[in-house]
Amino acid sequence: MYSADPSRYGIMKYKYSGKSGLKLPLISLGLWQNFGGYETLENSRSMLFRAFDLGITHFDLANNYGPPPGAAEETFGRIMEKDLRPYRDEMIISSKAGYLMWDGPYGEWGSRKYLIASIDQSLKRTGLEYFDIFYHHRPDPDTPLEETMGALDQIVRSGKALYAGVSNYNSAQLSEAVRILSSLGTPCLINQVKYNMFNRWVEEDLLKTLSSTGVGCIVFSPLAQGLLTDRYINGIPDDSRASRNFTLQKAQLTDDVLSKIRELDNIAKQRNQTLAQMSLAWVLRNKEVTSALIGTSSVKQVEDAAAAIDNIEFSKEELNHIDKILNE
Ligand code: NDP
Repeated sequence: MYSADPSRYGIMKYKYSGKSGLKLPLISLGLWQNFGGYETLENSRSMLFRAFDLGITHFDLANNYGPPPGAAEETFGRIMEKDLRPYRDEMIISSKAGYLMWDGPYGEWGSRKYLIASIDQSLKRTGLEYFDIFYHHRPDPDTPLEETMGALDQIVRSGKALYAGVSNYNSAQLSEAVRILSSLGTPCLINQVKYNMFNRWVEEDLLKTLSSTGVGCIVFSPLAQGLLTDRYINGIPDDSRASRNFTLQKAQLTDDVLSKIRELDNIAKQRNQTLAQMSLAWVLRNKEVTSALIGTSSVKQVEDAAAAIDNIEFSKEELNHIDKILNE
C-alpha cells in the first residue's frame, strides 16, 4: 500500500493559474504516452507515486491517451482506486475531449453532444466523481464556439468538473472563448498549449493575451517530446519515443537539430543542470506560464524534471546565447 512522503510539500513550488485561486505545481505530469500499452502498470505506478512524493499534484489526462485510446484513464483509475484515493483532495486531475475518440459524427471536435458524452466516459474509466479541470482539446472550425463553451459551462455547473479550460487555442480564439465563458459565469481557467525552445509560437501574441485576460497557461511538450534532453545526443535508444517513429519522427533528428541540442547541453552544464532541467526552466521563465507539463518514461526522469525548479533564473547573456543557438 502506497503512503505519500510526508515531506512532499517542502519540495515543489506552486503558482496561481492566471487570476484564479487555483495553484498548480511548476512541474505537472502528463499521461499521454506512458500510461497505456507502452509501459508496465508497475512503471506507471512508480512514476505517479514518485511525482506525488515530490509535490507534483497535477496529473493531466485526455479521453484518447493510451495507447489504445482510453487506456491512460483506465490505468490512472486503477492506481487511483488502489493507492491514491486517500489523496484525492490533494490532487488536480484534468481530462479533455476534442480529438477522435469514437466512430460516427459525435466522436470528436466540439459539439455539446460529444463533450458531455466524453466526460461521462472519462469519469467512468477513471472511476472519479469529478475532474478538477476539463478542457476542450482543440479548436473546432465548424461548431459555434458558443455551443462548445456552453458545454464546458454545463459540465462545470453539473459538478462533473470544477474548472473549464481550452487547449491549442490561439490568441483570437482564446479571447473569444474567455468572452463567452465569462458571459456564462464560468471563467476560463487555463489554456494548454505547446511551447518549447524549438516551438516558440506562443511568444508572438498569445502570452500577451493570457496576461490581459488573466488566464493561466500550462505548456505541453516543453522537452519537444525528448529532443530537448540528453536522450538523443548519442543516438536513438531502443526504448525511446523516437524509436517508435510515430509522434516523434526519427527524421526530426537532423544534424542541425543534434548540433543545437549539443550546444544547448553545454549551456545547461555550465548552469549545473541537465538539458531537460534547463529546457523546463526556460519555459517557466515567462511570468504567464503557470506550469510545465512533462511526459516521462521512468522514475529517474520524474526526479530530474522536479529538480528543474531549483534554478529557473537566467542571465541576459544565457538567454541571448540560447537565442543565438536557436536562430543559427
Ligand atoms: P515532453 O516534451 O516532456 O516529452 C516527454 C518525453 O521526453 C518523455 O517521454 C521522455 O522520452 C523524455 N524525457 C522526459 N524527461 C526526461 C529527462 N529528464 N531526461 C531525458 N528525457 C526525458 O512532453 P510530452 O510531449 O510527453 O507531453 C507532455 C504532456 O503534455 C502529455 O503527457 C499530455 O498530458 C500533454 N499534451 C497535450 C497535448 C494537447 O494537445 N493538449 C498534446 C501533447 C501532449 P522517452 O519516452 O523517450 O524516455
